[in-house]
Amino acid sequence: MKLALVGIGKIAVDQHVPAIAASPDWQLAATVSRAGTVDGVEAFTDMANMLAQRPDITTVSLAIPPVPRFAYAQAAIRAGRHVMLEKPPGATLAEVHALEALAAEHGVTLYTTWHSRMAHAVAPAKAWLAEKSITRARITWREDVRKWHPGQDWVFEPGGMGVFDPGINALSILTEILPAPVHLQAADLEFPANRQTPIAARLTFSGNVAADFDWRQTGPQTWDIEIDTTVGAMALRMGGNVLEIGDQPSRGENTIMGEYPALYARMADLICQSRSEVDLAPMVHVADAMTLGKRSITDPFYF
Ligand code: NAP
Repeated sequence: MKLALVGIGKIAVDQHVPAIAASPDWQLAATVSRAGTVDGVEAFTDMANMLAQRPDITTVSLAIPPVPRFAYAQAAIRAGRHVMLEKPPGATLAEVHALEALAAEHGVTLYTTWHSRMAHAVAPAKAWLAEKSITRARITWREDVRKWHPGQDWVFEPGGMGVFDPGINALSILTEILPAPVHLQAADLEFPANRQTPIAARLTFSGNVAADFDWRQTGPQTWDIEIDTTVGAMALRMGGNVLEIGDQPSRGENTIMGEYPALYARMADLICQSRSEVDLAPMVHVADAMTLGKRSITDPFYF
């Protein structure tokens, strides 16, 4: 199937382009990006032109930041194309609901991807937790914004979500593996004095579940979810790629390279089944944290 990739930036180059190139299902037939291009692939700078000139391209994958994404997704769906959305799927919950309804109206597939759910150890962790009673869960998601989002001021603009941009990856795993849903009860958010979105957040959920997100960690990065149950403990480490159960040695691979190939395989599958997959559960927690969170001001942040 022919695909257009929109937004040739960091994640497109790091993950989407290699995943599409390695896929038996997909051919990268065009790009749409104001500046970015991919060698050997027809490049458009305007979405409307691409949609008009390439009716053979049936699927559009959007790897631009969340705020501009809605208009691109709406145009693609109205033009009868299947659409795949990077995480977080939009800037607001309501706009993703609108896209879901639009996709149904036009009979095309809409897929809100959550790449961290495709990490190697997430499915085994979910299977292990099924039907167990959870007594406590702790998420620690601490990384270096300068390393993962170099110079990307949009993450600190309204709709950029700040530290929830990585934190939502942890929440996408949590909402996938817990046998019963939890809801947010309190949040503390730290905003740099010169920015619009938080650089750190501490969240308290029902069911003795808590999360600590911080974007100021240099050196080794921490992406851990530790869960206690009435019959023992487990931990997911390295962003869902390594599973530890009780005293057993850890299993899994310390790499995210399998996540995007799995997303593109899933998209092909959904199209074959004429289905959409739209899950906003991780983003509901972020919206609730922004609604309930106590705000404090911290040091200004500069890249
Ligand atoms: P990015 O490099 O800053 O942006 C991607 C591309 O989108 C840019 O190169 C730019 O291309 C285009 N773009 C930026 N602002 C735009 C605007 N206002 N209107 C239209 N196009 C615009 O961001 P990224 O890190 O790739 O992140 C993109 C998405 O992937 C985000 O939702 C992010 O959460 C997700 N993601 C990122 C990472 C990561 O490690 N960075 C990992 C997983 C997922 P042109 O200038 O050529 O138009």
